[in-house]
Amino acid sequence: MSDLNAVRRAARKALLAETGTEAPKWRQVHTDVCEEPDAIGPVCTDEGHDADDPSAYGCCPEPVIEVESPAIGAYLVALLNADREGGAA
Ligand SMILES: [Zn+2]
Repeated sequence: MSDLNAVRRAARKALLAETGTEAPKWRQVHTDVCEEPDAIGPVCTDEGHDADDPSAYGCCPEPVIEVESPAIGAYLVALLNADREGGAA
């Protein structure tokens, strides 16, 4: 578990720099016109970005991480969202 705490701390530092929050909510993302989401990324909070629109635009926060398998993307999003409250800071 100490490994998880160490990597979580490092990731949260990076996410704070990228998104302005240490533990953003994650979503599956379409980086291209495709039937299934091909990436994951932090939820975009831009006013002009419809919350139901799964595409990645210039307004969206990084990192958008390509994930070839939509099933694995869904799993990673579920894990990351479940871990948002996880761990001691
Ligand atoms: Zn956006």
